Amino acid sequence: MNSSLELGKIMGIPIRLHWTFLFIIVVVTWNFASFSQEAGGIIYGFGAIEQTSLRWIYSLLFAILLFTCVALHELGHSYIAHKNGISIKSITLYFFGGVASMEEIPRNPRMELQMAFAGPAVSGVIGLATLYLAGPAAAFGGAGSPLTIMLSNLGVMNIILMAFNLLPAFPMDGGRLLRAWFATRMPYVKATRRAADIGKIFATLMFLLGLFTLNFMLLFVAFFVYVGASEEDKATEISVSLEGILVRDIMSSQVRSISPEMTLEELKELMFREKHRGYPVMSGGVLVGIVTLTDLQNVPEARRAQTRVDQMMARKLYMIGPEEEASTAMKKMNDLQIRRLPVIEEGRLVGIVSREDLVRAIELCKEREH
Ligand SMILES: [Zn+2]
Repeated sequence: MNSSLELGKIMGIPIRLHWTFLFIIVVVTWNFASFSQEAGGIIYGFGAIEQTSLRWIYSLLFAILLFTCVALHELGHSYIAHKNGISIKSITLYFFGGVASMEEIPRNPRMELQMAFAGPAVSGVIGLATLYLAGPAAAFGGAGSPLTIMLSNLGVMNIILMAFNLLPAFPMDGGRLLRAWFATRMPYVKATRRAADIGKIFATLMFLLGLFTLNFMLLFVAFFVYVGASEEDKATEISVSLEGILVRDIMSSQVRSISPEMTLEELKELMFREKHRGYPVMSGGVLVGIVTLTDLQNVPEARRAQTRVDQMMARKLYMIGPEEEASTAMKKMNDLQIRRLPVIEEGRLVGIVSREDLVRAIELCKEREH
């Protein structure tokens, strides 16, 4: 499903807009067009501008500029990654900000430190520069001039963006900085665990504060931070413990395949007898599909005796080679939301690797470490 629109490329990286992003552009524009408030010598919002149409145009322009700054923040991270030879697939702007999707980052704390720092640094520089320029703009056109409001509001928002991202919690940049800093003095998994724990404590405090002040936004952010911390912790542990393990080492090579002519009634009995949840389907020595318990359950009991496997098996086959990393298999299954992958070598089916195989491998590796 493609729910994002490609805007263009910068440094060879496609910049995309997710549809939820249009929603936030509307919200920001609406907000800035309908209020005007002075605080600390800065006027926020274009609500005091007399002409209604101009109010909306300035607000829309502001919203677009603000999210250009979010994109620049992500490009800051991407630039350092790019310089270190990491390829970046894309940058997508969602309603809560930008996300740069890149291939797995090699575990080099020094590089991660630089990379995590680059985004907030970009936001900080833009923030200070626009705030600085707001001075002459105010001297020239007054504190209420559109240019002054534009510059000073962008300045403040960029400083907030920097501060928010420096929160010491995953998935914020601050969490990554913290982990990289810990990783210079302890193993990576432990460093991630410690950074994630700090993030969770932080999220809990934020949640309590949100509860007492009835601040809905704070509750939302706290939840976001808590989930982010837990996921980072899990993902790191898995990829580290599977390091150096190949698909060949964990796959089941005794593959029982079935013929496309088998009926679903027969398949059900086979699954029940062998306690397998999925089988590759072979026809004349060639893999033609894969069938799982879920596929079987989609067909009503009464029709199973007349339905053949090739009428409902999945024909779109995702596979993996025996010499690929086990963590690649894990990633593939997660991305595709499937539970097993046929292992193919020189066009021949040599095994099958399932989620259960991966879980077992992870558990055994954890044993080995302790
Ligand atoms: Zn960032």
